[in-house]
Amino acid sequence: MEKKLLVYNSLNGKKETFKSIEKDHVGMYVCGPTVYNNVHLGNCRTFISFDLIFRYLQFIGYKVRYVRNITDAGHLENDSDEGEDRIAKKARLESIEPMEVVQRYTTDFRDTMAKFNALSPSIEPTATGHIVEQIEFIKKIIDKGYAYQINGSVYFDVLKFNKDIPYGKLSGRKIEELIHNSRLLDGQSDKRNPQDFALWKKAEPNHIMRWPSPWSDGFPGWHLECTAMSTKYLGIQFDIHGGGMDLKFPHHECEIAQAEAVYKKNPVNYWLHANMLTLNGKKMAKSTGNNILPNEMFSGENSILNKSFSPMITRFFMLQAHYRSIVDLSQNALEASEKGFNRLVEGLKKLDKLEASEVTSGLNIEDWIKSCYSAMNDDFNSPILIAHMFDAVKYINAVSSGIKQISNKDLESLSKNMKSFFYEVLGLLTPEKDENKNELKQLNGALELLMKIRDKAREDKDFETSDLIRDSLEKIQIQINDSSEGASFKIN
Ligand code: AMP
Ligand code: ZN
Repeated sequence: MEKKLLVYNSLNGKKETFKSIEKDHVGMYVCGPTVYNNVHLGNCRTFISFDLIFRYLQFIGYKVRYVRNITDAGHLENDSDEGEDRIAKKARLESIEPMEVVQRYTTDFRDTMAKFNALSPSIEPTATGHIVEQIEFIKKIIDKGYAYQINGSVYFDVLKFNKDIPYGKLSGRKIEELIHNSRLLDGQSDKRNPQDFALWKKAEPNHIMRWPSPWSDGFPGWHLECTAMSTKYLGIQFDIHGGGMDLKFPHHECEIAQAEAVYKKNPVNYWLHANMLTLNGKKMAKSTGNNILPNEMFSGENSILNKSFSPMITRFFMLQAHYRSIVDLSQNALEASEKGFNRLVEGLKKLDKLEASEVTSGLNIEDWIKSCYSAMNDDFNSPILIAHMFDAVKYINAVSSGIKQISNKDLESLSKNMKSFFYEVLGLLTPEKDENKNELKQLNGALELLMKIRDKAREDKDFETSDLIRDSLEKIQIQINDSSEGASFKIN
């Protein structure tokens, strides 16, 4: 068991030797998606980064309890304390129940992560399933004197908290700066100070997502769910908390304040933040429309790229960058990753066919294995690991063409480690093992056939059949577009 792991801790900006609270066990909490829309590739990058981390921790022998929540209430527009709940808004616009929105996009999220071969978390709690815990947590914060109630809402008193315990340690923001930079309250808000944040909001009469509480019929503030659920499942202090870089402030800062207000202890030992996926140099985001959805990438149905890329190539592309670096999505970069991925897959195939010799020449296999571990032990440096794997492929090619040699023992150990790092650590699948890829191919084939049957029906003026095909497909979010060149389909 190799355990000299260094992790970059956002709390102090340093790489630290990882030491778990409980020997051989790790508690890891990662903020999950707000399920009001299809996840875009940017969201996926963050969850793939933490999938790599989850996989590697297990690979080196830790038992990991990985908690990743589903935000299905309380996340208002613009990440602020005012405005409409994102899920309620979607439900209103589509005239469906909020829980229908939640179900649809939770399913989309899980399906998408499965296509990327991401492992399921150990626990996937929802905000609406933990309203009681959140109310209890608010009561504790009020008891400690760090929250105030006003007109049925409850707010965290940041200035009062900061007098006892410094606020802003994660983001490095000073309270004076926050005060200086914040806009004055517009008179509509009940908050005493603009820095305060909502723990409970009284629901307006038209706000459909509401629960009874000692203060009002209302809903919890967004930051609260993660504190309530992480402490419930991982304890007052746990090892790792993760999320995208954009969650550092205010979300994670507020989580720390909430937990410290109650327990007076630092809740998390290592804060890990994954960097952003950009498109055209700008952050991929749902709100701005600057994004590509995973299915648009897999089917090639998008206006940005002129060919499709499979989930495994997309995953490989993301892992070719370190999780703390920004990655810009582009056709060229994806094509380079596709070539690299295919080279690795070919290398793995060749490896199975290599013939052993008496001795090894050309690569010290033990050193190579050590360098793979060292890469991952250095803050999960997957690009360096992949570079070592390319070196191994070069060597495999050389052995295959008789230029270099490998002993039986070394062949076994190279093969075992190449496969472990490829399948278990990087979470990649070769095309033969990738069921999704085959499924997608089969689905596309079947849909093309349906398009032909529908075209024929239209030619024969059998509109009953052609409408039946279109309407039935629409029900399962497959949209047909008729144009002068014939019908095409789009999987939403
Ligand atoms: P949300 O559903 O908006 O709460 O986001 C879910 C996760 O995706 C959070 O951890 C965000 O930090 C992350 N995220 C959002 N946009 C991007 C992006 N462009 N690149 C990487 N991660 C992102
Ligand atoms: Zn969170």
